[in-house]
Amino acid sequence: MWNRKIDNPTLGLVFFPAFDWSISPTHPERQERLLYTRDQIVEEGLLDLPNIREYNPMVASWDVIEGVHVGAPDLQSWVTDAHRVSAGGAIAAADAVLKGEVDRAFALVRPPGHHAMRMVHGIRGFCTINIEAVMAHHMRKEYGVKRIAIVDTDVHHGDGTQDVFYHDPDTLFISFHQDGRTLYPGTGFMDEFGGPQAIGSNINIPLPPNTGDEGLLKVMRELVIPILEDFQPEIVINSAGQDNHFTDPLANMKVTAKGYAQIVDLLQADIAVLEGGYAVQDALPYVNTGIILSMAGLDYSRVMEPNYEPIQQPTNVTQYIDELIEKWKEQWQQRHAMAADILVGAGERWKQEYSVYYDESGIHEHRIETVRLYPDTVGWHSVESESSGGPYGSQRVYAMFIPWQANTRTREEAFEELHRIQQEGRCQRYVIVDPLGEGQIVTVL
Ligand SMILES: [Zn+2]
Repeated sequence: MWNRKIDNPTLGLVFFPAFDWSISPTHPERQERLLYTRDQIVEEGLLDLPNIREYNPMVASWDVIEGVHVGAPDLQSWVTDAHRVSAGGAIAAADAVLKGEVDRAFALVRPPGHHAMRMVHGIRGFCTINIEAVMAHHMRKEYGVKRIAIVDTDVHHGDGTQDVFYHDPDTLFISFHQDGRTLYPGTGFMDEFGGPQAIGSNINIPLPPNTGDEGLLKVMRELVIPILEDFQPEIVINSAGQDNHFTDPLANMKVTAKGYAQIVDLLQADIAVLEGGYAVQDALPYVNTGIILSMAGLDYSRVMEPNYEPIQQPTNVTQYIDELIEKWKEQWQQRHAMAADILVGAGERWKQEYSVYYDESGIHEHRIETVRLYPDTVGWHSVESESSGGPYGSQRVYAMFIPWQANTRTREEAFEELHRIQQEGRCQRYVIVDPLGEGQIVTVL
């Protein structure tokens, strides 16, 4: 379905500004974020254009959210109506495209989602549930979409989206972002290349501070587009964060509104979903206008923010990016060999242990992750997760994730593994997520 050139495309827009939801009144992720954007779009007359249609968001069902996330103590403790409508806005955008009513769609919604991982012990990086992941699950369940690519153009590494899809070889996640050594969440390096059964499906492109339009456009042309062409997705989703803008208070990049419109023009995503962007008045209205014009195939050459001035990308930044692109091209060529290498001597199970911090909720989580490897099909992965420091006290949850690609045998083996772990009795809750089968099943001991 991903078609890079559509003549006179139609575009669906979904707005959900969530006027009654914020982390705190002075937090950058606050109610006014989409107010100026909405005004600008109305003022420019974009909603009167014949090829642009507005859609209402819907409320995402618990069932679709539970196809992706496991909560501790449960999802209801963290997920508000605003989160469900934000995810429902992304779903409405996907429905408009997949029903063929429009060629493309852009969900201008909040709260954002790309730092939300599968396990939800609290709020991370302003995010509680991953709205793109919930939308992708909806597309697989309702429309049978298989190969999906998500390109994250937010300045922060989309660590939540990476976590959700890390073991799925049929979801390609590409994130370019300000280098994690200089910005939250501190991850997103080249060696995070996908789990043992999905090597090459997770692409991180960490860029130096002061990267401008020139750098991002080069990364798009020379890396992102060729990788997408190799992967051959049916659908391309853009996690459209706008905090690479030169006025953004949370980061250090030098991208302009027109630069964003050009990136979107190169990408030709089927669906864009708003993520970050905190220069609420100086950038967001102009970047969003640029993206809308670009997605609708209209002239965006005159989009200019009021405090625009030409920005020269420093030579050392250009040089760093050139070298990074070369290194990445090499790693991409090596992906099949790297995938084969990782399976040598791995046996049936692959394990890793790591910790996750929830900055908004002060919660520490420790995880033991296991992946069941098969030579010929995608296996389950499980997370034994223990957290402390939050309002609900110490939480110990075991989650078994059955892949959407599961067959009868791999599904049965996942249930057997869950029952075996349950007998060991270490956790308070045992959850199985069977997204295209029985949904989410919870056992509380
Ligand atoms: Zn961001």
